Amino acid sequence: MAIQGPQAGQQQIEQTIPRTVTIDGPSAAGKSSVGYRIAQRLGYDFLDTGAMYRAVTWLALERGIDPDDDEEALAKLAADVEFEIGLPPLGEDESSILLEGRDLTPYLRQAVVERAVSLVSRVPAVRYEMVEMQRRLAAKGPLVITGRDIGTVVLPKADLKIYLDASPEERARRRYQELVAARREITQEEVLAEIHRRDRIDQSRSTSPLRPADDAIIINTDGFTLDQVVERILDLIRAER
Ligand code: C5P
Repeated sequence: MAIQGPQAGQQQIEQTIPRTVTIDGPSAAGKSSVGYRIAQRLGYDFLDTGAMYRAVTWLALERGIDPDDDEEALAKLAADVEFEIGLPPLGEDESSILLEGRDLTPYLRQAVVERAVSLVSRVPAVRYEMVEMQRRLAAKGPLVITGRDIGTVVLPKADLKIYLDASPEERARRRYQELVAARREITQEEVLAEIHRRDRIDQSRSTSPLRPADDAIIINTDGFTLDQVVERILDLIRAER
Protein backbone atom coordinates (compact mmCIF):
# COMPACT_ATOMS: atom_id res chain seq x y z
CA MET A 1 0.00 0.00 0.00
CA ALA A 2 1.24 3.50 -0.75
CA ILE A 3 0.31 7.02 0.16
CA GLN A 4 0.85 9.88 -2.25
CA GLY A 5 3.85 12.05 -1.51
CA PRO A 6 4.01 15.57 -0.06
CA GLN A 7 1.54 17.88 -1.62
CA ALA A 8 3.21 19.78 -4.42
CA GLY A 9 3.10 23.52 -4.34
CA GLN A 10 1.94 23.75 -0.76
CA GLN A 11 3.83 26.04 1.52
CA GLN A 12 5.34 24.32 4.52
CA ILE A 13 5.14 26.25 7.76
CA GLU A 14 8.67 26.20 9.17
CA GLN A 15 9.95 22.78 10.22
CA THR A 16 8.20 19.50 10.80
CA ILE A 17 7.11 19.98 14.39
CA PRO A 18 4.70 18.59 15.31
CA ARG A 19 5.51 15.81 12.90
CA THR A 20 2.24 13.96 13.39
CA VAL A 21 -1.11 15.54 14.13
CA THR A 22 -3.81 13.05 15.07
CA ILE A 23 -7.48 13.98 14.85
CA ASP A 24 -9.96 11.54 16.37
CA GLY A 25 -13.65 11.86 17.05
CA PRO A 26 -17.11 10.48 16.28
CA SER A 27 -18.64 10.34 12.80
CA ALA A 28 -19.48 13.63 11.11
CA ALA A 29 -17.54 15.71 13.64
CA GLY A 30 -15.66 17.28 10.71
CA LYS A 31 -12.38 15.35 11.10
CA SER A 32 -11.68 14.92 7.39
CA SER A 33 -12.65 18.45 6.37
CA VAL A 34 -10.57 19.95 9.17
CA GLY A 35 -7.70 17.46 8.87
CA TYR A 36 -7.27 17.81 5.12
CA ARG A 37 -7.21 21.59 5.33
CA ILE A 38 -4.59 21.47 8.05
CA ALA A 39 -2.48 19.04 6.02
CA GLN A 40 -2.67 21.40 3.05
CA ARG A 41 -1.68 24.40 5.16
CA LEU A 42 1.29 22.52 6.64
CA GLY A 43 2.34 20.73 3.45
CA TYR A 44 1.92 17.40 5.29
CA ASP A 45 0.54 14.13 3.97
CA PHE A 46 -3.04 13.33 4.86
CA LEU A 47 -4.53 9.99 5.82
CA ASP A 48 -8.20 9.49 6.61
CA THR A 49 -8.27 6.04 8.20
CA GLY A 50 -12.07 5.80 7.96
CA ALA A 51 -11.61 5.32 4.20
CA MET A 52 -9.54 2.19 4.89
CA TYR A 53 -12.27 0.61 7.04
CA ARG A 54 -14.84 1.63 4.44
CA ALA A 55 -12.77 0.01 1.66
CA VAL A 56 -12.53 -3.30 3.55
CA THR A 57 -16.28 -3.11 4.19
CA TRP A 58 -17.07 -2.44 0.55
CA LEU A 59 -14.90 -5.37 -0.51
CA ALA A 60 -16.50 -7.66 2.08
CA LEU A 61 -19.97 -6.78 0.81
CA GLU A 62 -18.90 -7.27 -2.79
CA ARG A 63 -17.59 -10.73 -1.93
CA GLY A 64 -20.76 -11.65 -0.09
CA ILE A 65 -19.13 -11.79 3.36
CA ASP A 66 -21.60 -11.16 6.19
CA PRO A 67 -20.20 -8.13 8.09
CA ASP A 68 -22.09 -9.15 11.22
CA ASP A 69 -21.28 -12.83 11.32
CA ASP A 70 -18.08 -13.92 9.62
CA GLU A 71 -15.08 -12.68 11.57
CA GLU A 72 -12.80 -15.25 10.04
CA ALA A 73 -13.52 -14.20 6.46
CA LEU A 74 -13.24 -10.53 7.41
CA ALA A 75 -9.88 -11.14 9.06
CA LYS A 76 -8.55 -12.97 6.00
CA LEU A 77 -9.80 -10.25 3.69
CA ALA A 78 -8.11 -7.51 5.74
CA ALA A 79 -4.85 -9.48 5.86
CA ASP A 80 -4.77 -10.04 2.11
CA VAL A 81 -6.04 -6.72 0.82
CA GLU A 82 -3.52 -4.49 -0.95
CA PHE A 83 -4.86 -1.07 -1.58
CA GLU A 84 -3.31 2.27 -2.34
CA ILE A 85 -4.37 5.34 -0.45
CA GLY A 86 -4.22 8.72 -2.11
CA LEU A 87 -5.18 12.30 -1.48
CA PRO A 88 -8.87 13.18 -1.64
CA PRO A 89 -10.31 13.79 -5.11
CA LEU A 90 -10.62 17.44 -6.13
CA GLY A 91 -13.21 19.27 -4.03
CA GLU A 92 -13.47 16.44 -1.47
CA ASP A 93 -11.71 15.68 1.77
CA GLU A 94 -11.86 11.93 2.28
CA SER A 95 -8.86 9.88 1.19
CA SER A 96 -9.16 8.04 -2.11
CA ILE A 97 -8.60 4.29 -2.33
CA LEU A 98 -7.39 2.26 -5.29
CA LEU A 99 -7.65 -1.51 -5.29
CA GLU A 100 -5.65 -3.24 -8.01
CA GLY A 101 -5.98 -0.13 -10.15
CA ARG A 102 -9.72 0.22 -9.52
CA ASP A 103 -10.86 3.45 -7.88
CA LEU A 104 -13.15 2.55 -4.96
CA THR A 105 -13.53 6.13 -3.74
CA PRO A 106 -17.00 6.74 -5.23
CA TYR A 107 -18.38 3.67 -3.41
CA LEU A 108 -17.04 4.37 0.06
CA ARG A 109 -19.91 6.66 1.10
CA GLN A 110 -22.68 4.38 -0.14
CA ALA A 111 -25.47 3.75 2.37
CA VAL A 112 -24.73 0.00 2.43
CA VAL A 113 -21.11 0.67 3.35
CA GLU A 114 -22.14 3.24 5.95
CA ARG A 115 -24.48 0.73 7.61
CA ALA A 116 -21.91 -2.07 7.75
CA VAL A 117 -18.62 -0.29 8.45
CA SER A 118 -18.89 -0.19 12.26
CA LEU A 119 -19.57 -3.94 12.29
CA VAL A 120 -16.48 -4.67 10.21
CA SER A 121 -14.25 -2.26 12.14
CA ARG A 122 -15.08 -3.83 15.49
CA VAL A 123 -13.40 -7.10 14.45
CA PRO A 124 -10.02 -7.20 16.29
CA ALA A 125 -8.13 -8.91 13.44
CA VAL A 126 -9.37 -6.31 10.94
CA ARG A 127 -8.21 -3.53 13.26
CA TYR A 128 -4.83 -5.20 13.71
CA GLU A 129 -4.18 -5.17 9.95
CA MET A 130 -5.36 -1.59 9.49
CA VAL A 131 -3.31 -0.33 12.44
CA GLU A 132 -0.17 -1.99 11.06
CA MET A 133 -0.69 -0.28 7.68
CA GLN A 134 -1.37 3.05 9.37
CA ARG A 135 1.82 2.85 11.42
CA ARG A 136 3.88 2.03 8.33
CA LEU A 137 2.41 5.01 6.51
CA ALA A 138 2.92 7.31 9.49
CA ALA A 139 6.60 6.36 9.67
CA LYS A 140 7.17 7.86 6.22
CA GLY A 141 6.88 11.52 6.99
CA PRO A 142 4.95 14.41 8.47
CA LEU A 143 1.29 13.51 8.54
CA VAL A 144 -2.17 14.62 9.57
CA ILE A 145 -4.13 11.46 10.31
CA THR A 146 -7.81 11.19 11.23
CA GLY A 147 -9.79 8.34 12.78
CA ARG A 148 -11.18 6.95 16.03
CA ASP A 149 -8.19 5.36 17.77
CA ILE A 150 -5.19 7.19 16.34
CA GLY A 151 -4.19 9.04 19.50
CA THR A 152 -5.05 6.15 21.81
CA VAL A 153 -3.77 3.09 19.92
CA VAL A 154 -2.22 3.70 16.50
CA LEU A 155 0.21 6.49 17.40
CA PRO A 156 0.07 6.98 21.17
CA LYS A 157 3.31 8.99 21.06
CA ALA A 158 2.08 11.48 18.44
CA ASP A 159 3.12 14.99 19.33
CA LEU A 160 -0.22 16.71 18.89
CA LYS A 161 -3.53 14.96 19.49
CA ILE A 162 -6.87 16.56 18.81
CA TYR A 163 -10.28 15.08 19.61
CA LEU A 164 -13.02 16.77 17.61
CA ASP A 165 -16.48 16.49 19.05
CA ALA A 166 -19.91 17.94 18.34
CA SER A 167 -23.41 17.12 19.54
CA PRO A 168 -25.19 14.30 17.66
CA GLU A 169 -27.80 16.82 16.45
CA GLU A 170 -25.16 19.15 14.99
CA ARG A 171 -23.34 16.23 13.35
CA ALA A 172 -26.62 14.94 11.90
CA ARG A 173 -27.42 18.40 10.54
CA ARG A 174 -24.02 18.65 8.80
CA ARG A 175 -24.10 15.12 7.42
CA TYR A 176 -27.70 15.60 6.22
CA GLN A 177 -26.65 18.67 4.23
CA GLU A 178 -23.81 16.73 2.62
CA LEU A 179 -26.12 13.84 1.74
CA VAL A 180 -28.77 16.12 0.26
CA ALA A 181 -26.06 17.80 -1.84
CA ALA A 182 -25.10 14.29 -3.01
CA ARG A 183 -28.80 13.69 -3.89
CA ARG A 184 -29.24 10.92 -1.33
CA GLU A 185 -32.90 10.45 -0.33
CA ILE A 186 -32.89 10.48 3.43
CA THR A 187 -34.39 12.48 6.30
CA GLN A 188 -32.45 14.29 9.02
CA GLU A 189 -34.06 11.97 11.61
CA GLU A 190 -32.70 8.93 9.77
CA VAL A 191 -29.24 10.49 9.67
CA LEU A 192 -29.43 11.19 13.43
CA ALA A 193 -30.49 7.61 14.16
CA GLU A 194 -27.59 6.28 12.07
CA ILE A 195 -25.13 8.55 13.90
CA HIS A 196 -26.39 7.31 17.27
CA ARG A 197 -26.09 3.71 16.09
CA ARG A 198 -22.50 4.13 14.83
CA ASP A 199 -21.48 6.04 17.97
CA ARG A 200 -22.86 3.21 20.10
CA ILE A 201 -20.96 0.50 18.21
CA ASP A 202 -17.72 2.55 17.93
CA GLN A 203 -17.74 3.44 21.65
CA SER A 204 -18.66 0.03 23.01
CA ARG A 205 -16.45 -2.31 20.96
CA SER A 206 -13.88 -4.24 22.98
CA THR A 207 -10.85 -3.36 20.81
CA SER A 208 -9.88 0.32 20.58
CA PRO A 209 -13.23 1.89 21.42
CA LEU A 210 -13.73 5.51 20.44
CA ARG A 211 -12.53 7.78 23.24
CA PRO A 212 -10.19 10.75 23.59
CA ALA A 213 -6.57 9.99 24.51
CA ASP A 214 -5.68 11.26 27.99
CA ASP A 215 -3.37 13.85 26.44
CA ALA A 216 -5.73 14.89 23.59
CA ILE A 217 -7.01 18.43 23.30
CA ILE A 218 -10.77 18.19 23.03
CA ILE A 219 -12.44 20.70 20.74
CA ASN A 220 -16.22 20.92 20.63
CA THR A 221 -17.10 22.33 17.22
CA ASP A 222 -20.78 23.15 17.92
CA GLY A 223 -21.38 26.71 16.74
CA PHE A 224 -17.96 27.08 15.06
CA THR A 225 -17.28 27.27 11.34
CA LEU A 226 -14.85 24.96 9.60
CA ASP A 227 -12.40 27.84 9.17
CA GLN A 228 -12.57 28.72 12.85
CA VAL A 229 -11.79 25.15 13.88
CA VAL A 230 -8.89 24.96 11.40
CA GLU A 231 -7.43 28.24 12.71
CA ARG A 232 -7.80 27.08 16.31
CA ILE A 233 -5.79 23.92 15.56
CA LEU A 234 -3.17 25.84 13.57
CA ASP A 235 -2.77 28.12 16.61
CA LEU A 236 -2.16 25.05 18.76
CA ILE A 237 0.42 23.82 16.24
CA ARG A 238 2.21 27.18 16.24
CA ALA A 239 2.24 27.09 20.04
CA GLU A 240 4.05 23.71 19.93
CA ARG A 241 7.00 25.16 18.05
O1 C5P B 1 -14.48 8.39 9.79
P1 C5P B 1 -15.48 7.55 9.03
O2 C5P B 1 -16.91 7.93 9.31
O3 C5P B 1 -15.19 7.49 7.57
O4 C5P B 1 -15.26 6.09 9.60
C1 C5P B 1 -16.10 5.04 9.21
C2 C5P B 1 -16.11 3.98 10.29
O5 C5P B 1 -14.84 3.34 10.33
C3 C5P B 1 -16.36 4.46 11.71
O6 C5P B 1 -17.74 4.53 12.03
C4 C5P B 1 -15.66 3.42 12.55
O7 C5P B 1 -16.48 2.30 12.76
C5 C5P B 1 -14.51 2.99 11.65
N1 C5P B 1 -13.23 3.57 12.01
C6 C5P B 1 -12.54 3.00 13.05
N2 C5P B 1 -11.28 3.43 13.36
C7 C5P B 1 -10.72 4.42 12.68
C8 C5P B 1 -11.43 5.05 11.61
C9 C5P B 1 -12.69 4.61 11.32
O8 C5P B 1 -13.06 2.10 13.70
N3 C5P B 1 -9.48 4.80 12.98
